[in-house]
Amino acid sequence: MSKHEFKTESKQLLNLMINSIYTHKEIFLRELISNSSDAIDKYNYLSLTDDRLKTEENYEIEIIPNKDAKTITIKDNGIGMTKEELMENLGTIAKSGSKAFIEKLKESKDNVDIIGQFGVGFYSAFMVADKVVVKTKSPYEDTGYVWESTGESDFTIEDLSKNEHGTEITLHLRENDDDESYDTYLEEYKIKELVKKYSDYVRYPITMEVTKEVPKNDDASEDTDKEPEYETVIEQETLNSMVPIWKKKKSEVSDEDFNEFYKYQFHDYENPLTVINKKVEGMLNYNALLFIPKRVPQDFYTDQFEKGLQLYSKGVFIMDKCKELIPDHFRFVKGLVDSPDLTLNISREMLQHSRQLKKIASNLEKKIKSELEKMLRNDRESYIELFEQFGVNIKYGLYDQFGAKKDLLKDLVMYISSETKEYTTLKEYVERMKDNQEFIYYASGSSKEQIDRLPQMELLKEKGYEVLYFKDDVDEFAINFLTEYDEKKFKNISQGDLNLESEEEKKEIEEKEKEYKDMMSYIKDSLKDKVSEVKISSRLKESAVCLVSKDGVSFEMERILKSMPN
Ligand code: ADP
Ligand code: MG
Repeated sequence: MSKHEFKTESKQLLNLMINSIYTHKEIFLRELISNSSDAIDKYNYLSLTDDRLKTEENYEIEIIPNKDAKTITIKDNGIGMTKEELMENLGTIAKSGSKAFIEKLKESKDNVDIIGQFGVGFYSAFMVADKVVVKTKSPYEDTGYVWESTGESDFTIEDLSKNEHGTEITLHLRENDDDESYDTYLEEYKIKELVKKYSDYVRYPITMEVTKEVPKNDDASEDTDKEPEYETVIEQETLNSMVPIWKKKKSEVSDEDFNEFYKYQFHDYENPLTVINKKVEGMLNYNALLFIPKRVPQDFYTDQFEKGLQLYSKGVFIMDKCKELIPDHFRFVKGLVDSPDLTLNISREMLQHSRQLKKIASNLEKKIKSELEKMLRNDRESYIELFEQFGVNIKYGLYDQFGAKKDLLKDLVMYISSETKEYTTLKEYVERMKDNQEFIYYASGSSKEQIDRLPQMELLKEKGYEVLYFKDDVDEFAINFLTEYDEKKFKNISQGDLNLESEEEKKEIEEKEKEYKDMMSYIKDSLKDKVSEVKISSRLKESAVCLVSKDGVSFEMERILKSMPN
């Protein structure tokens, strides 16, 4: 038996693991299963070219809980490890990203999230176990080895006679403490649940011996009154389905399947409005399965809401809400991304990691946009249904990041029009504009009725110009960033001079101004600082007077700004 010290970084990481207050300790199982799956991948790959390795047909990852010994074993028939590999792989963290990862762990208070994001590999076993025993054999060596450690400062390695290639990892579970029962990891239901949750799509069968009560099949008696008799059988059951829905052929999956998957996976009781299923191959490989929900989640417009897509690598679940994958303006989109280019392990260079995510995110953003446009063209009713739910969010996108996304989003926003009385896009508005019309007119207010009562509407209506109703707080702010559509500028009908008068009307006003000069200055004097100017107007048809704001902040924006917390 030989004794070895862990390398410094390994010690640090182990220390963090052991003392982890991490609430998702259960992910250790995912990590070990994914290592087994990688090891089988390697064996399979090598066996294709190396005659020394026979092509295995029964690849398997077996889970063996033992309640008496309080151990759980994960066993595979993958590539195993040579002595050298054992020293290397389980004694040091060889890869470059890990050091940075540890630094990050130490500086961040809630290191828990980072663990979840990167996966923690083999060492995560020590979150639930106080002793780990690894029995392994490589097909390239005659003998096997046992590696053993309590996760403190050293590990031991001993020879082992083992015939089959592969690895068997046994965790001696920690004693239950006040906050945590490690015994649950020995329960059949718990193991099944964790495999379903994290490893359902692993490509090799994950099996476990299960005890089942099945009806005794002794006679074909039709006597339904008789209590059916049961017997206990023990069988090896495959716990995972192995094929993710997004990897199945399109012809094999029905809309119903997608709907059911969506509801189960993303906890919705209604079918989604749209399903986007995209497969990309090339420089970057990934599958994306996205859903647009029918309704805003209850917490959508609160701080509680968390955007993000689920992230998988080769069918293995990595994280639940990867927020880097979805921009804020489309944060209502749910779904998942599976990419073999992203690995579960922490040892990957983190920067590289996020660059790939960024690229995928930017592709998805374009894809979502074009899907929404398609829906607007082909199924306007559904689009409006969606826009009523999520439109405000898209409008926020217009001014978010100082308008950086305005070109992406400008054709997705809609406003109620005074002309059609329905939702209209800016494109449609511009197409209807009169020959001599210079601006896209809009009016702000909290309701259509309130806007209709604005004295300024009278003039626009009389002149036959269409006005867009801006009913959401965000509308005017957003338009300030958009500034124009198709080279037509926006104009608030309550702001500044609309300049719609004909020459005759202008002359008439000039005359009136002279005639009523005294009266105007009398009004101005009486109102003092409450107004900056009093003028004769041609805007008014039926009302006697109206308030107009000069260029700058409109009345409506002033109201919103005042109502915002400082
Ligand atoms: P990662 O999987 O990211 O490489 P881990 O900490 O999970 O990091 O595992 C470290 C290394 O140990 C693996 O890269 C692999 O070489 C080796 N290893 C772990 N589990 C197994 C296994 N079941 N069979 C063969 N090798 C394994
Ligand atoms: Mg791993």
